[in-house]
Amino acid sequence: MGLLDGKVAIITGAGGGIGRAEALLFAREGARVVVNDVGGARDGVGSDDAPARKVVEEIRAAGGEAVASFDSVASPEGAVRIVGAAVEAFGRVDVLVNNAGILRDKTLLKTDVALWDAVVDVHLKGTFLCTQAAARQMVSQGGGGRIVNTTSVSGMLGNFGQSNYAAAKAGIYGLTRTAAIELQKQRITVNAIAPIAKTRMTEDLPMFQSAGDTMTPEHVAPAALFLGSDLCADRTGHVLAVAGSQMYAYKVVQTHGKFKDEGAVWTAQEIAENWDAIIKV
Ligand code: NAD
Repeated sequence: MGLLDGKVAIITGAGGGIGRAEALLFAREGARVVVNDVGGARDGVGSDDAPARKVVEEIRAAGGEAVASFDSVASPEGAVRIVGAAVEAFGRVDVLVNNAGILRDKTLLKTDVALWDAVVDVHLKGTFLCTQAAARQMVSQGGGGRIVNTTSVSGMLGNFGQSNYAAAKAGIYGLTRTAAIELQKQRITVNAIAPIAKTRMTEDLPMFQSAGDTMTPEHVAPAALFLGSDLCADRTGHVLAVAGSQMYAYKVVQTHGKFKDEGAVWTAQEIAENWDAIIKV
């Protein structure tokens, strides 16, 4: 018995890295999988059918079922075609993993609009478009489904040189929370993972010069599987972080704060004087 027996899953950006590990694990757990990937470079330039085709072959060689899709998540027509590929091949959609992503790092002062748009388009707009297309299909099937987004420590906490990427990933957090609220009635859960793994996206980071095989995409895939399976039927709107053997969560907290009498207006000086009490968790 697999955790995804009888389910149809779409994984975007599944031609390599974390998405590939998710696709292989989902197929091993019984899902019929749409392996989507444009096959571009790390910065999103170019396209190639080979990475998605190769993962489909790997799944089939292991006895699983999969089809490839080469559309970009960042275009409305592409997102509709990605969902359409699942319906055409397997008749329905049960799980969507929004994983596709690119990097164009530059400091804020040097980030031009082209760098901003490219990264926000793939991560944030792509997650919105695929979520909307898949959720519409899930609703048309009578409801029920799992959406797993991919955010990042960069979006949750910020990171030097990644204003475009961090803003997109923080946007994915807000989208996850809102979609979780809106789709709850339809029994569609919407959660996110915040992974850290050695892939082509991160391999030149200093931490991965020594991390070796302790933080791989295969360490991350079970978190997506959990959120994509019925083990997670009662949990929505969460961010599950996974880095090697570490599993934790990100939460936005509202502090207890400090309240004045109802209707009273704070002065800037009072805010300064009460700062520690206001921000205390
Ligand atoms: P990766 O570059 O190996 O994988 C990303 C995949 O997305 C690539 O195969 C790429 O071709 C595909 N892709 C890019 N643009 C696309 C588009 N428009 N449409 C469809 N596919 C597209 O990198 P990865 O590390 O496996 O990243 C996977 C996800 O995890 C990304 O969203 C990334 O931001 C996120 N993430 C990774 C890490 C990490 O430590 N590796 C950390 C935080 C978040």
